[in-house]
Amino acid sequence: MSRTLLRALLFALLAALVACADAGPQRKKRRGVDRMVFRDAPEENAYEKIPLPPQRVRVQARAHTATVGNVAGVANFQMPAPLCQPPKNQPSRTIGPTTDGQLQDACRIPGQGPGYIAVSPNAFGTDNTVALLEMAAAQVNRQFEGVPAIVIGAISAENGGFLKPHKSHQSGRDVDIAYMRTTKGQPKRFELTDASNLDAERTWAFLEALLSTGEVGWIFMDYEIQALLYEALLDNGWTEQALAPVFQYPAGATVPRGVIRHATGHADHFHVRFRCPEADKPDCVD
Ligand SMILES: [Zn+2]
Repeated sequence: MSRTLLRALLFALLAALVACADAGPQRKKRRGVDRMVFRDAPEENAYEKIPLPPQRVRVQARAHTATVGNVAGVANFQMPAPLCQPPKNQPSRTIGPTTDGQLQDACRIPGQGPGYIAVSPNAFGTDNTVALLEMAAAQVNRQFEGVPAIVIGAISAENGGFLKPHKSHQSGRDVDIAYMRTTKGQPKRFELTDASNLDAERTWAFLEALLSTGEVGWIFMDYEIQALLYEALLDNGWTEQALAPVFQYPAGATVPRGVIRHATGHADHFHVRFRCPEADKPDCVD
């Protein structure tokens, strides 16, 4: 056999191997949303393992203020009922911390709903997680006309537990969400976001809807994107003082301040961690 032929055969074999490795289970096309393009982003995260602060932060959108305090049973906020697919009767139960947890009778967020698409097969959350995501997406949908749907990525596996490649996402309370961007067309996956394409107004509207409930524990977000949002908010009437309990920026990317914290690997999506539902305490650990 000539050396050229041998080399050609080796190349063909390698190409076949690469094609096989690429054809994982996520490439299967499912009803509603094309899941081929979605990949979980690897997360390297110093904050993943730190417990939540006991004090809640709540943003009051219209007043441009944020309050810190024990607002258990936040005034004026009624947890909506989630829309799960398929519908279920048993309430969900979340157990343990997000880095070593389980999930029972999970609510699977539908592949699409008002203002969002859910593109990960790991679309299982607590009832509260799904209800809050659906509420915030619907609110943005009402507020902004003709914009693309928000891309929701991984939440948890059906029964929780370790979810590759994450350190957390184990108990139905962590969610990866794409930044809202100014680019045209419907995105179906996470894409690197920066000053040239961040839709700060819409991204903040979504975050604000979540933060107004007092149910958010942490949000992990690239420090530079925090800066873009923060500066946009100052231009819109927010004060540095009001934003201090919310943003780590401008204190520094390693300073323990704010609900929104820098974590590497979060320039194409942000990560929201919800607090334990009252009904699941003390088994659920913040
Ligand atoms: Zn995440």
